[in-house]
Amino acid sequence: MRRLTLTLLAASLLASGIASAATTTIPATAVKTAELLRDKALHDDTAYKVTASLTTEVGARLAGGPNDQRARDWAVAKFKELGYDKVYTEAVTYPLWERRSEHAAIVAPFPQPLTLTALGYSAGTPKGGLTAEVVKFDTLEALKAADPASIKGKIVYVGYRMERAKDGHGYGMGSAVRTMGAVIAQAKGAAAYLLRSAGTDAHQRAAHTGVTGFRDPAKAIPAAALTNPDADQLERVLAYGKPVTLKLDLDCGVVGEYTGANVIGEITGRKHPDQVVAIGGHLDSWDPGTGAIDDGAGVAIAMAAGKLIRDLPQRPDRTIRVIAFANEEMGLWGGRAYAEKHAADVAKFQLGTESDFGAGRIWRMSASVKPEARGAIGQIARVLEPVGVAYDAGKPGGGGSDLSQMHAKGMAALSLTQDGTKYFDWHHTPNDTLDKIDPAELAQNVAVYAAFSYMAAQANGDFGSAPGAFAKDGAGE
Ligand SMILES: [Zn+2]
Repeated sequence: MRRLTLTLLAASLLASGIASAATTTIPATAVKTAELLRDKALHDDTAYKVTASLTTEVGARLAGGPNDQRARDWAVAKFKELGYDKVYTEAVTYPLWERRSEHAAIVAPFPQPLTLTALGYSAGTPKGGLTAEVVKFDTLEALKAADPASIKGKIVYVGYRMERAKDGHGYGMGSAVRTMGAVIAQAKGAAAYLLRSAGTDAHQRAAHTGVTGFRDPAKAIPAAALTNPDADQLERVLAYGKPVTLKLDLDCGVVGEYTGANVIGEITGRKHPDQVVAIGGHLDSWDPGTGAIDDGAGVAIAMAAGKLIRDLPQRPDRTIRVIAFANEEMGLWGGRAYAEKHAADVAKFQLGTESDFGAGRIWRMSASVKPEARGAIGQIARVLEPVGVAYDAGKPGGGGSDLSQMHAKGMAALSLTQDGTKYFDWHHTPNDTLDKIDPAELAQNVAVYAAFSYMAAQANGDFGSAPGAFAKDGAGE
């Protein structure tokens, strides 16, 4: 009787779209198929071919730039070529920022050019350039504590050096110096903002671009990143203890609004077409490279995983939805638009995560799911363990970059952490090109995405997605 009541309760909760309290399990036949998908993916070069196609035929894909429409056309055509059942787009509107030219030089005491790159949402300098004295800070904290009188009218430079790490955690502070540092410098009256690139390479004169925290063009100042060797050079010059004057000539800025789109491909579920496993990457890239590791690889991993599932003798029980997000780089515009549009349907999202950390091997999995789905996550972990993925049961899952926004709305999410040891040598630089991708490492990613997506699609029960379900997680890692 008690059992019957619970079953009825679970059924009515499911029918009302609220996460069920019943234990979620993955049938043995689905586990077996997932193992086959995993092993097949290791010998499948679809993801590498897709990344090569995108980076060769389209190349750089700055959001709203000359290649934006070509990238979307490419994604629609590629989904169709791979045999996806349904392909569509959802509009995303955002400010259009343009990079036109960028030059810098030390004027005094030792005149010489510097290599740098303007940052997203940077303002341009006045016509003819901007010449001012440099004031240096070692850390973001030091800049925060600085007296505005010491900054007003000067070029603020922050010399924070990002540390290399397998999990890429050094980027937390590296990107904070870029996004927040620029805003703090502007608020304290700086004429312009410079930082040491948020990157771990030292032997290349390649600057790492990326977005700033400027959102109101009226409050933006010129902001740029020096290459690591140029930052070293500037610091040596500053160490002489004489006033150092720089000239910056940046031609860039927000020129209006642009409407792009998230491009979506689906393998339609056989039993529950309205319930989806959401995976993806972001279609846009920064402009200096060809966006191979950031994030052609992520789009390709998800597309190839969906294609492997599509090639099974029959469609999965639930829909596999692959999303190629618009404009992640300038502040998760595609991810935020997606979450706003689909927040009310969050309970229909079985499980999701996005690939946006390069093409290195996945070495760790963590999950944010309801307690009754922990066993099913354990089943997924056992299938992924032979390809080198360790399950960290004590860590939440963030859903990746854009899908962190759906996770914040209540979508059950995984984090599939890639090896980022080398990622920040190339990230956001001209060196983000196809040759940085190891096809075997990329294939391992596809194995993980195909296996987990299929198991989630076949599960008996859900993973706990519901409005606000994981509010305690924050917005992910
Ligand atoms: Zn990215």
